Amino acid sequence: MSPDGVLAPMAVADRAPRLREALAAAEVDALLVTDLTNVRYLTGFTGSAGRLLVTAEALVLTTDGRYADQAPAQAAAAGVDVEVAVGATLADQDRTLAAAVPSGARLGLEAASVTWADLRRYEREPFGSELVPTEGLVEAARAVKDVGEIDRLARAAAIADAALTEVAPRLLDRPTETEVGLELDFTMRRLGADDVSFETIVASGPNGALPHHRPDDRTIVPGDLVVIDFGALVEGYHSDMTRTFTIGDVDATQRRMYDVVLEAQAAGVAVAGPGVATRDVDAACREVIAAAGWEDAFTHGTGHGVGLVIHEDPRVGRSSTATLAPGHVVTVEPGVYLVDHGGVRIEDTILVTDEGCRPLTLFPKDPTPAAPG
Ligand code: ZN
Ligand code: ZN
Repeated sequence: MSPDGVLAPMAVADRAPRLREALAAAEVDALLVTDLTNVRYLTGFTGSAGRLLVTAEALVLTTDGRYADQAPAQAAAAGVDVEVAVGATLADQDRTLAAAVPSGARLGLEAASVTWADLRRYEREPFGSELVPTEGLVEAARAVKDVGEIDRLARAAAIADAALTEVAPRLLDRPTETEVGLELDFTMRRLGADDVSFETIVASGPNGALPHHRPDDRTIVPGDLVVIDFGALVEGYHSDMTRTFTIGDVDATQRRMYDVVLEAQAAGVAVAGPGVATRDVDAACREVIAAAGWEDAFTHGTGHGVGLVIHEDPRVGRSSTATLAPGHVVTVEPGVYLVDHGGVRIEDTILVTDEGCRPLTLFPKDPTPAAPG
């Protein structure tokens, strides 16, 4: 996927029917979707307030007056057949939703997004015969990307690749971290990103030893390792990549850190494929780093799913229980962080396919910033 070209259409309308099969398996008759990303996934509605009731027959979306036009328009544009009901207060909306729950139904709630106050309201209103906590029903569906989603994720990754190609040579001009970050953000927007995917990380020299350092006014100088972790947003879909650069002459330890992380990252990607436990991907990365004697310097998990949010299922870590499947999009991003030398992290976003996986991040893994050509 190049930064231009036509994106495949989204198949939003196919999602609620698939979710209904998961509801049956979870032994609920209906689901009240309160996580806004999940509401968006199922309806195309992007507002900041809304709840979606999914029953065997119907979809009912409640929101407030700010979205009286936007909600039905976005659902129609997504081809989703949903009844949109506007209510001035949550109590009004509760009554609409409760009336749409079939009598005697077991109603699933999304446990991770229902507050205690919400639950007390749901218990007062007659919301069916039984409220059942559910976890991860929509998230599990979201983890498997369809063609339109993969196109947007690939576009976002291609924009990030192209932006770094433009900006990386500037690392040789003694810029500050902040300048590099701003230039990357601006370049991604110019190349068609709707926004940045998350706050860009530029961590040079000793700052690189902090995996989530915010860019500051430190000047990037010869001898530095520079960790750059960033991404683009395209139609709600995030990209996520990290490259580490060596500026001028770096010491033998820094060079070895780079080589070890590069090997660890390749080992993780080599293992990834359908049917593989994500913790085995983590282990493949971790073994290489441990063999180099730096097990304690790899202080985070190996990766995460990427989609409508930057960190989503499936997780790729030591204690993860997920198994990769075709359509999963995950990062593989081992790192080594040493106080006296800085940090190295290398991160690709990869798509799990029927045969194995393929990278969406295509930027080369050469630690030397190319001179402007
Ligand atoms: Zn990242
Ligand atoms: Zn990441």
